[in-house]
Amino acid sequence: MPRALSPHYTHQGIVVATPVATIPIAPTIKTFMPNTPNIAYPYVPEGKKFLYVGETHPYIIMAKAFARFQSLDAVMPGAAVVVKDDVVLGIGANGSGYHKKQPCQRVVLGCTSGEGYDLCEGCHPKNHSEAKALATATANKHDTNGADLYLWGHWWCCRSCWDVMLAAGIRDVYLLEHSEMLFNKEHPDNIVGKQFTS
Ligand SMILES: [Zn+2]
Ligand SMILES: [Zn+2]
Repeated sequence: MPRALSPHYTHQGIVVATPVATIPIAPTIKTFMPNTPNIAYPYVPEGKKFLYVGETHPYIIMAKAFARFQSLDAVMPGAAVVVKDDVVLGIGANGSGYHKKQPCQRVVLGCTSGEGYDLCEGCHPKNHSEAKALATATANKHDTNGADLYLWGHWWCCRSCWDVMLAAGIRDVYLLEHSEMLFNKEHPDNIVGKQFTS
């Protein structure tokens, strides 16, 4: 009887992030577009930029599906997939159970968007998609150096997540195209609150 794998996630019959072996899941579909220079990200490290893929990209589809079923963040569900050589090394969704029981401390304290994540257990960067995906890769002893990260559900990455990604050797970060509109609470055409219905 094989022992239970943790984390264990099956996507269209394919198991990813197993501790013993990694399984190629999809042919490489490179549909990324060049960075859009006029997006005012709240934070991006010196010399880094975001790349974009369309909604039919397999890793963005995977991230969206994982966010839908695993995220504990009701307002801004998100998930990230860490990929190297077309193999999924780690996957994680954001959120924690904290907000279900207690008010968000960032709201209580009046934090502005993107600030004070470490002040609230429910918002803590350790519960962000990027950090959780990398934690599963690390827990399974995968070498993330040179891997890429695909993030669905957000339009930028906070400083803490960038720090974690850079330390892990993440090469490129891919977002869903038009994320700066779709997942931006400030944008009039966002899909916040209807991420899985539109
Ligand atoms: Zn919070
Ligand atoms: Zn973050």
